Amino acid sequence: MSKTLDRSSQYRMRQHWLALSVALTLLGCIVAYNLVSMRQRIISQEHQRLTNQARVIDKNIERQLTATSLTLEGIIDDLPELHRPQNHAQANKRLSVLADAMPGVRTLFYTDAKGTILASNRQELIGRNVTTRQFFDEPRRHPDPDTLYISPPFKSVLNRYVFDLTKIIPAPDGSFNGIVTAGVDPDYFETILASTLYAPDMWNTINHGDGLRFMTMPYREGQVGKNLAVPGSLFTRHKESGKPENIFTDTAYATGEYRMVALLTLQPKELKMDKPLVIIISRSPDAVLESWKNEAIFQGLLFLVACIGSSIGLFLLHRRQSLFEKQAQRAEAMVQIRYELLEYATMHTVDELLQYGLDEVCRISDSPIGFYHFVDPDQQALTLQAWSTRTLQEFCRAEGHGMHYGVEQAGVWAECIQTRAPAIHNDYAGLPNKKGLPPGHAPVMRELVVPVIRDERIVAVLGVGNKESDYTLKDAEEVLYLADVTWEIIDSRRSQEELKQANELLANHARIDYLTGIYNRRMFDGLMTAEIARSYRYNSSLSLIMMDIDHFKQVNDTLGHAAGDHVLQKIAELISGRIRNYDIFSRWGGEEFVIMAPKNDVCKAAELAEILREAIEQFDFGNGLKITVSFGVTQYWYGEEPEEFVARADTALYQAKHKGRNRVEIAEQPVVLSKNCVTEELVRLPLLEASS
Ligand code: GH3
Ligand code: MG
Ligand code: MG
Repeated sequence: MSKTLDRSSQYRMRQHWLALSVALTLLGCIVAYNLVSMRQRIISQEHQRLTNQARVIDKNIERQLTATSLTLEGIIDDLPELHRPQNHAQANKRLSVLADAMPGVRTLFYTDAKGTILASNRQELIGRNVTTRQFFDEPRRHPDPDTLYISPPFKSVLNRYVFDLTKIIPAPDGSFNGIVTAGVDPDYFETILASTLYAPDMWNTINHGDGLRFMTMPYREGQVGKNLAVPGSLFTRHKESGKPENIFTDTAYATGEYRMVALLTLQPKELKMDKPLVIIISRSPDAVLESWKNEAIFQGLLFLVACIGSSIGLFLLHRRQSLFEKQAQRAEAMVQIRYELLEYATMHTVDELLQYGLDEVCRISDSPIGFYHFVDPDQQALTLQAWSTRTLQEFCRAEGHGMHYGVEQAGVWAECIQTRAPAIHNDYAGLPNKKGLPPGHAPVMRELVVPVIRDERIVAVLGVGNKESDYTLKDAEEVLYLADVTWEIIDSRRSQEELKQANELLANHARIDYLTGIYNRRMFDGLMTAEIARSYRYNSSLSLIMMDIDHFKQVNDTLGHAAGDHVLQKIAELISGRIRNYDIFSRWGGEEFVIMAPKNDVCKAAELAEILREAIEQFDFGNGLKITVSFGVTQYWYGEEPEEFVARADTALYQAKHKGRNRVEIAEQPVVLSKNCVTEELVRLPLLEASS
């Protein structure tokens, strides 16, 4: 029973764990999915932002380049006018005004076909020759009036990297006739780059189409002038892709850092540039995902807490449940034992029940030893009374049975008696007073003793010992319960026995005459009905002898009432000893008696009466007192009422008295009697005149 209970609850627990792991896995999946999609969203949002910023930079620079290109074209258009000698000073002034008006332009000049600067917004440059410079050499070698030449970055006299925008001046015959160049203002471009920074980890750069880094924001030492056009670099990958825009998250060649990088090639359709510019802006992926990481850690921790918390919760719940179940099983076992004890009690003696109860107590408390001591009513001494079966087999051989000793010798038992509460000693070996233990008793290491209290008095103490582990209050509770149950059964059995005796006594009062100890009149009436019925059933005869003591009044009058009573008792005794055990002898009332003799006809009954009469007549009732009795005898006649039967006997008795007393008189029978008073099927004969 308890095993299947265990298995079903174990199954249930496994189900719980399964359900919890499924729920937690599901929760984990949801959390993970959320985090992954959140990460994706953040990354794609960041891609979008970076691309947008790159486009903003692109648009600004594009506008600047277009404006510069138009300015350069305007200067070229005005050259025939400006080349006149009287207009020289005018030309320089014109260039100064234009340079000031263009926010991105710092230097403006034009040269002749041989590279000598003819006019500039900066006086110091006039007359210098720039033939060797790339911004002159490149257009001279590949002259195209429509192209805006973008020079590679170079260090200016102010020690800053700049680049030049150049257009060729075509001769009327279309040949190369010098250049007009604008040197860009790095401050202006820096402002554009700075204005698009939106995070501390962000880094914006402008690079030449050939791969030289021109400008970075924020500034980083050693970066400007670096060539990015190496195999495998993000710059090269971008160029090779042929796409105007790219986003990579990878290690950047120039810095060696892992970055999220947006690359955009600046090459406006309306503007023919010999080389594009490449805008590269980047962020640290770590910084981009920092808040996401915090969120992931937070959610992960939350999930972990949920896992641990729910597991601990379920574990505690199960522990509580199994504790409850164990308690319930225990309680069930207790009830079961109670029934077993009750059943056992019906077939066994009190001593056997005590022993059986003790065995059960030992079993339930895992104790190899169990003893009962009965306690004297004065609570001062106890008697070793019973052992559990195992104790008897393994620990001692009943030598101590009945041993009687004072409480002061009883050690832990005394403690229990004095406190009237369970005494637990799990260190009994250390207890000094071990006297009073029965001989042959193995050393007791742990002991639990409980009192059995009835009507405020301790009637017994029950002790168990040597459990493997310590005895607990729970053990005490259970042992106490079982001891109590055993004694309850014993008590109720005792009271049942008392009740039975009382009932028997009461029943005897109802049917026995208190003075003579024979049946009384009431009992006789009942028995007569039964006997009449029986005589019908077996077709057998039934006779009645009625008797009355002669001159009994005189006995009372002369010797006293007590003597009269004595005579009554003696006569009852005399008669009881002379009748068959199935004859029914009863006191009819006063000094009258009656005998119902089954299976006797009237003649046999008369013979019996005669024997009794003689015995009484001859008996000495003390001090020579002689008593005689008169008898009336009759036989039951088929179909008559019991009253008629009795009345006939009474009549015969009256005749006996009348005829002089101390004699037997047979009633006039409505039956045929044979010569020697033997009936022949008398009972069945119809009513006839009697003949003798
Ligand atoms: P007889 O029957 O021979 O005619 O004379 P008797 O003296 O016996 O007369 P009767 O039957 O009328 O008297 C019955 C007496 O028995 C009366 C009463 O005092 C006495 N008696 C009845 N019951 C008891 C009893 O229980 N104990 C004693 N001691 N006397 C009893
Ligand atoms: Mg009488
Ligand atoms: Mg009488």
